[in-house]
Amino acid sequence: MDVFIEPIARLINEFSRLPGVGKKTAQRYAYKVINMTDQEAKEFADAIQGVKQRVRFCKICGNFTEDEVCDICKTRDKGTICVVKEPKDVVALEKLHEFKGVYHVLHGVIDPMNGVTPNDIKIKELLLRVGEGEVKEVIMATNPDVEGEATALYIAKCLKPLGVKVTRLSRGIPIGSDLEYTDEVTLARALLERKEI
Ligand SMILES: [Zn+2]
Repeated sequence: MDVFIEPIARLINEFSRLPGVGKKTAQRYAYKVINMTDQEAKEFADAIQGVKQRVRFCKICGNFTEDEVCDICKTRDKGTICVVKEPKDVVALEKLHEFKGVYHVLHGVIDPMNGVTPNDIKIKELLLRVGEGEVKEVIMATNPDVEGEATALYIAKCLKPLGVKVTRLSRGIPIGSDLEYTDEVTLARALLERKEI
């Protein structure tokens, strides 16, 4: 017999799906929910449903948006595209308030060991954007790990025939680290001191 009655066991199970949440933490979260007022619990549940109902991908850059096209694509300089792996990398770069261009979210990086080929990520979409002719520079801001570097070089090779300048965030971000966890000073310097590849 389970030590928890079914509705509690179910909630613990849902919380334990979250990254970094073990069984003990999931139990604590579940107890916290049980102690919420009806109104608080409703708002919590609504917030979860809200992101699923209202958040989608920008049809131009692939970042999260509530509209068809995100605010960054609507308002910013389309001459520079910064290419990142995931939407959370856009957040890391936006926090710097340095970059005035637009983004392109690949939704992954090339990773043959795990069966991710160039066709599985949004490279074709990037080439189409650059092919439209307005773009002067593409900044490769994938993580400085093996897959991120390989993806940056692959895309740079694809972009060469289109005559666009391709740059890479400068060294300084520790090898193997994640943009998301890089401190803002280091990341801002890596962006400003980017090098052509
Ligand atoms: Zn967009």
